[in-house]
Amino acid sequence: MNFIQTRGNDANKAQSVTFSQAILAPIASFGGLYVPQELPDLGEAFLQKHLNSSYKTLAADMLARFEIDIAQEVIDEALDLYDAFDDASNPVPVVKVKENLYVSELYHGPTRAFKDMALQPFGVVLSSIAQQRKENYLILAATSGDTGPAALETFKNRENVQVACLYPDGGTSDVQRLQMVTEDAKNLKVIGIHGVFDDAQNALKRLLASEEFQSALKEKNVSLSAANSVNFGRIIFQIIYHIHSYLELVRQNAISLGEKVYLNVPSGNFGNALGGYYAWKMGLPVEKIIISSNENNILTKLIKTGKYDLRDNAVVGTTSPAMDILKSSNVERILFDLFGDVRTKELMQSLEENNFYELNAEELTQLQEKFDADFCTGAEGKAYIKATFENDAYLMDPHTATCMKSFETCSNPAIKTIAYSTAEWTKFSPVIANALTGEKDAHDIDALKSISAVANLEIPSMIQGLFDKEVTQKTIIEKEKIEQEILKFL
Ligand SMILES: *Cc1c(COP(=O)(O)O)cnc(C)c1O
Repeated sequence: MNFIQTRGNDANKAQSVTFSQAILAPIASFGGLYVPQELPDLGEAFLQKHLNSSYKTLAADMLARFEIDIAQEVIDEALDLYDAFDDASNPVPVVKVKENLYVSELYHGPTRAFKDMALQPFGVVLSSIAQQRKENYLILAATSGDTGPAALETFKNRENVQVACLYPDGGTSDVQRLQMVTEDAKNLKVIGIHGVFDDAQNALKRLLASEEFQSALKEKNVSLSAANSVNFGRIIFQIIYHIHSYLELVRQNAISLGEKVYLNVPSGNFGNALGGYYAWKMGLPVEKIIISSNENNILTKLIKTGKYDLRDNAVVGTTSPAMDILKSSNVERILFDLFGDVRTKELMQSLEENNFYELNAEELTQLQEKFDADFCTGAEGKAYIKATFENDAYLMDPHTATCMKSFETCSNPAIKTIAYSTAEWTKFSPVIANALTGEKDAHDIDALKSISAVANLEIPSMIQGLFDKEVTQKTIIEKEKIEQEILKFL
């Protein structure tokens, strides 16, 4: 299958590219993104066939339907990484939390957040393409705290790949920071910047578009790619777990095959929700996708009013920092799917030039047929964490907690919901400790201990071990110095 471009073709880039090309150079004409030319139609037969399949079998068959230009043994090696998740026989457990609400836990991988679901296999795929082509790649990652650790983990010591990971100094939890700054593989560089996540992401986008930077890299025989979810190589692995989660509900006799469900997704860059949208288009029975946000509620406003308005909006820091995003990259792929490339280009140009776009009434209706949305404040989120722990004996992180509000405000109670849990409690322990016990401003290590005691949960060894590891990545710089610092590293 080939990949086409969300903003049309500029006559410089190829009209369509292979999967490998789309993941090696993820920015398309006019700054657009790559999307599949058409999605495979799986239908109910596919669901029936995989009712009793393992995650890996399901994944391999779904990927095969995409007919991508990646050798089967590479795909198999990539999927084998799910064996190292907590339960090799089921890397994504789905748990009933209360009547009609099921939580799909996407955080059982090595860095304890859902980014591992896609980045683990993505690392194998990208490195093997680079080796095959005898090319060297620099992977840029901008992180608010979860992508960075997952990208470093997947690429460490892999051939033909180096990683430069940008994070906002002071903008992550202790655990997230330690997961990055204690990585000591030679092909990894971690750079803290004075600024917020959007500064890191803007720097990344600027470097990806900069010809000057790319020619400086070329002199070192290095090409550039990105590990953020603008890269379709991540999105493809994020379709699978939506199908798996649905089949889990069938296996648990919670629904019958063919019954529609809500997918409720805590969203930032919209990669997770986009995976659900593609799964739906490929035949998964979905009633609607519900987008959950925090106080940075730009997606709620878009879906409720049709307006994407950045004009008087600055990112605010919240208790669910992985969703502190206003420029939500993957919305563009939805616009393309619903309205085509000409309109997408127009809307995205308006966003770039005027910090604003507005859908017309007909377009808004189309969007609302697929999506609904609500946002949850930090205080509400903490109340949900406490209530769900006390009443339903289920502990969730502050990102997952944003789904609890929209579960109440957006769902028809006759229809079951799959809500996605995107992080383990260990990654955001100070907020959770505050929600459960009222303790304030605890360091992660103390918060972990108090949650562990209150909830009778063990701190996983990979988290506990972080506090004794040596800090090897000490670079913290002004954002203007990023380019220089990366060139020095190469
Ligand atoms: C990345 C992340 C999100 C947002 O996911 P998107 O695919 O960017 O919408 C939500 N929660 C956590 C914990 C994350 O790490």
